[in-house]
Amino acid sequence: MNKGLVFNIQRYSIHDGGGIRTIIFLKGCPLACPWCSNPESRKGVQPSSWRKNGQLEVIGEWYDLDSLVEEALKDEIFYRTSGGGVTLSGGEVLMQADFAAELLRELSDLGIHTAIETTGCFPVERLSKLLPYVDQVLFDLKIMDESISRKVIGLDVPTVKENFEAALMNKNIEVIPRVPLIPGYTDSRSNLQAIIDYLKSQDVFDVHLLPFHQYGGSKYDYLGWGYEMKDAVTLTGQEIIKIKTLFEEEGIRANIDGLE
Ligand code: SF4
Repeated sequence: MNKGLVFNIQRYSIHDGGGIRTIIFLKGCPLACPWCSNPESRKGVQPSSWRKNGQLEVIGEWYDLDSLVEEALKDEIFYRTSGGGVTLSGGEVLMQADFAAELLRELSDLGIHTAIETTGCFPVERLSKLLPYVDQVLFDLKIMDESISRKVIGLDVPTVKENFEAALMNKNIEVIPRVPLIPGYTDSRSNLQAIIDYLKSQDVFDVHLLPFHQYGGSKYDYLGWGYEMKDAVTLTGQEIIKIKTLFEEEGIRANIDGLE
C-alpha cells in the first residue's frame, strides 16, 4: 500500500540527525517501554484517539507518498543550508517498513539526507528494505539482559543485535547508537557495562546518551492510561556526567543529547 500513517510532523528540529531536520513520526510500535514519551504511537498501524483538554482528537493521518514528500520538501532550503534532512521516527519505523522504504528512496533520489530512528525489533529483512536509502541510523540500545528486556518492553535482544550489525555492515551509513538513560531500567552499572562491552565488540566508539525526561507524562492522561514513570525522578547532571565518564573511560565518546 502506497500510504503511510503519520501521527506528527515536526519541523525545524535540531535533534535526531544533523542540521535542521523535519521529523516524520510514523504510527505503530509493538513495544511497551514504560518511559515511552510517544505512547500515542503505540500498538498497530491504525488511527486512534485521545481526549485532550476535553476534546476528542484523532491520532494518525494517512498520507500518500507524493503528499508526504511534498510536505518534506517545504523545508528543503533549510536542509541544504544546514546540512540537515529528513528523519523517520515513531513509534517504530519498521512497523511501516514498505512505505518507509519508498519514502526514503524518493527523498534520497531528490538528494535529501535521510535518517531513521529504530529499536531494531523486527526480523532484519524489514530493516534491510530501508538501508539502501538511508544515510544515518539512530539506533536505540535499551536493556541488554535478554530476559529483562523481553519481560519489561517485549524486545528480543538477539534480534536487536542482528539489526544493529546489519546496519553497521553498510560502510556508507552512519550508525549512531543511542542509550536512553531511564532510572531503574537502563541506568544500572551492569546494563551500561553490557552496552559498552557490546559496542566495543562491534568496534563502535561513539554513543549518544538520552537522559530521561517527563515531557510525555500528560499524554498518558489524555489516553486514559496509567503512567508507571509518574513519580520517577530525572537523573541529576552529576549522575549523567558519571555515566558519560563511564563510557569515555572505556574509549567510547559519549554525547549527551540536548547538551552537546
Ligand atoms: S520503542 Fe519507542 S515508541 Fe516504542 S514503546 Fe518504546 S519508547 Fe515508545
